[in-house]
Amino acid sequence: MFKAKNLSPQKLAGFTALVLSAIISLACLAFGLGWKETGIAVAITFLAGYYLYLYTLQQFIYRKIKLIYKFIYQTKASKREDFFNKNILPLKTIEEVSEDVEKWASQKKEELENLRRNEAFRKEFLLNLSHELKTPIFAVQGYIHTLLDGAVEDPSVNKMFLRNATKNIDRLCRLIDDLDEISKLESGEMTINKEPFVIQDLIRDVFDTLSIKARQKDIKFSIKKGCEAPVLVYADKEKIRQVLINLIENSVKYGKQEGQTIASIYNMDGRTVLVEISDTGIGMAEEHLPRVFERFYRTDRARSRDIGGTGLGLAIVKHIVEAHGQAINVRSKVEIGSTFGFTLEAAREA
Ligand code: ADP
Repeated sequence: MFKAKNLSPQKLAGFTALVLSAIISLACLAFGLGWKETGIAVAITFLAGYYLYLYTLQQFIYRKIKLIYKFIYQTKASKREDFFNKNILPLKTIEEVSEDVEKWASQKKEELENLRRNEAFRKEFLLNLSHELKTPIFAVQGYIHTLLDGAVEDPSVNKMFLRNATKNIDRLCRLIDDLDEISKLESGEMTINKEPFVIQDLIRDVFDTLSIKARQKDIKFSIKKGCEAPVLVYADKEKIRQVLINLIENSVKYGKQEGQTIASIYNMDGRTVLVEISDTGIGMAEEHLPRVFERFYRTDRARSRDIGGTGLGLAIVKHIVEAHGQAINVRSKVEIGSTFGFTLEAAREA
């Protein structure tokens, strides 16, 4: 009749009162009381036992449980709390209370793990950052000290040292700019101002901006055949310009001499547009792909630094695309090339 595992306070009180009444009835009969008197004694014992036990349970146990719930939900005295205490809590079985506590505990554990992960992430970021700052600063310091120590008079090295110092200062400036951008993106300070525009026009603009860099490596920019028909997207034009600059600049930086960078645009289902930037460059091994969007992650640290990379370009790209509620991915093969693809919202044509 009673499932021992699922007892509500009412059931528990009823069960206890029943056992008590049974004992009393046996005692009454043993002492030779009549059926009527025994019946009255049993009824009184049952009712008194039931209410007394229920009252004790609620006073002593539920008061403690109420405190637990107060702690779990961090409630302040409110109408909602009153309603919960009066109408919901008394119906809960001890097992349900224990389930609630376990659920709360696992939620807290998850929160703690999240905090710990964030803390590790923050430490790693700081470590990377100080390393990224140290390298160019120490290089500049070295060149300037050498120049002051006499190299300034040596025409065979003085200009070269100054040029190298400038290169490192430029790198520092790029790093600060990227850091500024990424902290704005991460603090949610950046607002997205969407407008309709033709994505091919923006891609051609970026191709023009980067044409000098491409020419230095004889890399050809083009829009894939069949993808020229203008596609209207609804996004923040300047932020998407930044995305395209970073991706297309990478396609040149990690591209091979006389290579190609091809942009493809696909209207997926009338609501989403897929933009892909493919190159015929050095590519990346499979194991790097899940991590290339992390801050300061590089497949080849030395090569990236040599060509002026800050290691933040793709992290910025990912932030911008995700701030649009869209996604980015990458496919790549070593020595064959890479394709970065991201989605955008299609603009509804008027
Ligand atoms: P970086 O400033 O180093 O270029 P990014 O965040 O733009 O930083 O890119 C991270 C890393 O991903 C690069 O260091 C490089 O190793 C790799 N990578 C990015 N784009 C390409 C590409 N098109 N081809 C090959 N490797 C790439």
